[in-house]
Amino acid sequence: MSQRTKMIAEIWGYRGWNVTSVTYERPDGRIVTLIEGFLLPADVKIVLHVERRWTSRCANCGAITSKVHEQLKARRWRDLPWAGREAEIEYAPVRVACKRCKTTNVELLAWADPYQRQTQRYQQHLALETASMPVQHVAALHGLD
Ligand SMILES: [Zn+2]
Repeated sequence: MSQRTKMIAEIWGYRGWNVTSVTYERPDGRIVTLIEGFLLPADVKIVLHVERRWTSRCANCGAITSKVHEQLKARRWRDLPWAGREAEIEYAPVRVACKRCKTTNVELLAWADPYQRQTQRYQQHLALETASMPVQHVAALHGLD
């Protein structure tokens, strides 16, 4: 891991997960290449590509389980903005076969509850904002429908 990705992983702040790379994307999904001496346009978002460091866990019961039932496609979760810039996490989770609870579940993720498309901390942030302003204002502020 380079010094840069190590630093980004520390800021990101989930133990047991590494940030393997960072990409920058325009709203239409096009990748933006960093050019030294030029600042990123304000509408470019940060995408953190991450990987698990340790054995997977069952999201249903929390048991450590190394039996992979199925490799799923990469997904994204919206995270708190980074310095005002939209940020997303990209990861391809696995579905694990849990011996303890005898189910197959998507693995436990440090940042999000099952079936959610936003990180827990982003959801908490939105909840706090809706406590102090109308929901429509919060949605407009974050570009949510
Ligand atoms: Zn389980």
